[in-house]
Amino acid sequence: MSAEIIDGKKVAELVRTRVREDVAEWVGKGNRAPFLKVILVGDDPASRVYIGAKTRACEDVGIETSTEILQDTISAKELKDVIRMYNTDDAVDGILVQLPLPSHLSSHDVIETINHKKDVDGFHPMNVGRLALDQPCFRSCTPAGVMELFKYYSIAVKAKHAVVVGASNIVGSPMATMLSRENSSGKATTTICHKYTRDLTLHTINADILIVAAGQPHLIKAEMVKEGAVVIDVGINRVADETSEKGYKLIGDVDFESVRKKASWITPVPGGVGPMTVAMLMKNTLLAAKQSIYPTD
Ligand code: NDP
Repeated sequence: MSAEIIDGKKVAELVRTRVREDVAEWVGKGNRAPFLKVILVGDDPASRVYIGAKTRACEDVGIETSTEILQDTISAKELKDVIRMYNTDDAVDGILVQLPLPSHLSSHDVIETINHKKDVDGFHPMNVGRLALDQPCFRSCTPAGVMELFKYYSIAVKAKHAVVVGASNIVGSPMATMLSRENSSGKATTTICHKYTRDLTLHTINADILIVAAGQPHLIKAEMVKEGAVVIDVGINRVADETSEKGYKLIGDVDFESVRKKASWITPVPGGVGPMTVAMLMKNTLLAAKQSIYPTD
């Protein structure tokens, strides 16, 4: 067997096209363009790369954006005051604080300061809680992108056994919540694994749908995967590669070449889940501008 490739680049482009058309229609009705405010604390090069990709995506779909760069010595109070200013600014629809933050700042505390109605990353406890209740909310972009891939490729989730490897607040946990809780697109029997999981293979080998977000290069080998499984690789790991001009290459958490021979569907890295994350951020920002999730009463 050789798995069908799930083309995240293609699906992300379709999502972005839809957002671009919806933004044009929204603006055509006399509304201002959606506006995303990005806050970067410090000067982490990787964060700059991610923000660059988000900025280009905004420009591509007609969303306005600007990035505020703050000193990495900023106090928690000063940062929260900046966020509060944008919370009440009617010209700002979405607020995104780029993670990770410098170690003296608590990301929980900072995220909780964001107005949940502008939390387009879907990290605020109000959105996380509403996700768990299967209520309308801003859904974390990466797992929402995975659910969108299932929808596009008509991959059935309901009643399947889904196993998520990784339990972070931004990927693994909301992924497991969407798969298990969402009435419209989820309802899988879901297992979530983390570093303390005793025998990872015991779980992965039983997965109809295996989603890996552990940040461990090639953690998942063919012998850990059930024949015919759907395998989604969220991991992005930079490993040294002398043959590449950059001196490195990006690989996933799944050993693609061996696993593709057993799986029915598989995402590549790069070109799988990655492009979906930014596309879903665009979708969330438009929803924020339209106040679709939290209508004003
Ligand atoms: P974190 O480091 O925050 O979380 C990793 C999770 O994996 C933790 O829950 C950890 O367990 C678990 N884990 C680590 N090692 C193992 C192991 N050997 N067995 C089982 N579980 C393990 O990472 P993120 O969730 O932020 O990201 C995960 C990966 O996804 C990274 O490679 C990241 O670059 C990538 N990523 C990709 C995105 C995209 O757009 N495609 C977006 C965001 C992330 P514990 O909880 O016990 O520590």
